[in-house]
Amino acid sequence: MADLFIDGAWRSALDERTREIRCPADGSPVGVVDEAGGKDTVEAIAAARRAFDEGPWPRTSPNERGDLLLRVADLLLRDKEALARAESLDTGKRLVESEYDIDDIANCFRYFGRLVASETGRVVDTGREDVDSRVVDEPVGVCALITPWNYPLLQTAWKVAPAIAAGNTFVLKPSELTPHTAIHLMRLLEEAGLPPGVANLVLGAGPEAGAPLGDHPDVDLISFTGGLQTGRRLMAAAAGTVKKVALELGGKNPNIVFADADFETAVDMALTAVFLHSGQVCSAGARLLVEDALHDRFVDEVVLRAADIRLGGPFDERAQTGPLISAAHRAKVEAYVAQGLAEGAVLRCGGARPSGPGFEKGFYYLPTVLDECTAGMSVVREESFGPVLTVERFTGEDEVVSLANDTIYGLAGAVWTSDEAKAARVAARLRLGTVWINDYHPYVPQAEWGGFKQSGFGRELGPSGLAEYRETKHIWRNTSPAPQGWFA
Ligand code: NAD
Repeated sequence: MADLFIDGAWRSALDERTREIRCPADGSPVGVVDEAGGKDTVEAIAAARRAFDEGPWPRTSPNERGDLLLRVADLLLRDKEALARAESLDTGKRLVESEYDIDDIANCFRYFGRLVASETGRVVDTGREDVDSRVVDEPVGVCALITPWNYPLLQTAWKVAPAIAAGNTFVLKPSELTPHTAIHLMRLLEEAGLPPGVANLVLGAGPEAGAPLGDHPDVDLISFTGGLQTGRRLMAAAAGTVKKVALELGGKNPNIVFADADFETAVDMALTAVFLHSGQVCSAGARLLVEDALHDRFVDEVVLRAADIRLGGPFDERAQTGPLISAAHRAKVEAYVAQGLAEGAVLRCGGARPSGPGFEKGFYYLPTVLDECTAGMSVVREESFGPVLTVERFTGEDEVVSLANDTIYGLAGAVWTSDEAKAARVAARLRLGTVWINDYHPYVPQAEWGGFKQSGFGRELGPSGLAEYRETKHIWRNTSPAPQGWFA
């Protein structure tokens, strides 16, 4: 084992600690990896600092950086099967979903590679002949990139690609539960020719391996994707040295269905919205708001189909969704369901673990629908991050906008209606970073991703995703300097 990548070299953790990774679908061993402590992370920060202050990468041309990102995209596709397999073993998600993810990840590197190569600085017209004035973009410095377990390599790519495109160096700390694809990515960055010290990888738990990234003076920027509590902690830690901070946090995303929606598609997509990857998606449509006139027929159909969803492991081709990431996470989901029932929700399906062969050792939980929910219930307000759909009724646009916005979150959501003007009105009033109209979950690398309110701060993807990793400098040049004589 030598899974930490620091200053261009692979090595073990200084105190030789390791962690065993097991597949959440059946508990089978996946691998044993090094587990960094704070001292390893401090070394990684020092390596990234040296590479930024003294190394060539921040000074390479945008074209060279763009070319490297395009090479990484090709290498990702070359290794697609191995990467997808590793991702599925760590997360338990279906292989086909991991394969989609690798395509998306390659696209992300391609997008930022092309974007950075096509950009130029800006000349500002001052209206004076004795002066010229330019605005140029520069990298921020050493970036701490901290990622979660639900889309391990995808979330990592959304940070690594723009960070290196802009000329930064970084320390990556992926979730301790899903380390394998991050290790593979480091090998690909090495193969693509990234200079030593630009990319550094520490594996390990948040409080040990991650914490120094929050307050170390040599870290200039933190880009974090994960839970709200961790985000708050990192933002506070970053305040001491006024780091740039970008946070992609949770969501409790409204999926709004008006009575005039295309019934078949809206039902089908209401299931995809919440049960994809067993609800472990930051933008999961876990909060279904159905117009009163349609409620009974719509919910009956959703329940019928949810009860039929086939669970299974990553390589079970019949499976439609998989297990939860861990026993602890399943216990959290179970507690939210119990709390919802105690507060008056009506259990329409699920609400239990599946039984029978194949499910004994995995962290499975049945797709669950809780009807007759109200906005004050904790299962409606907080992110369970599991296969749990809460259903609320509404009448008319004003009521649904006020219900949907009555949350601390603001990540994403959808509106289903055949009335285009109504869709546009409601979309405009929703306080969400992404609104889908008659669709759910798609995204493109060209468009920004991020949350309003406590769902986050800053943007990923799109041109602003690159801007997150840059400082903007104005250079003013006086071509005819002469004394002004104010204090003569
Ligand atoms: P988490 O906050 O527990 O962990 C995320 C990362 O932070 C992990 O790498 C963890 O080790 C690290 N960490 C924990 N404590 C730390 C500390 N004190 N210092 C430094 N690092 C620390 O989140 P999770 O359970 O891995 O992920 C699930 C959450 O992620 C959900 O809330 C989900 O909504 C969110 N998420 C958001 C988006 C988005 O785009 N907004 C995308 C995916 C996931």
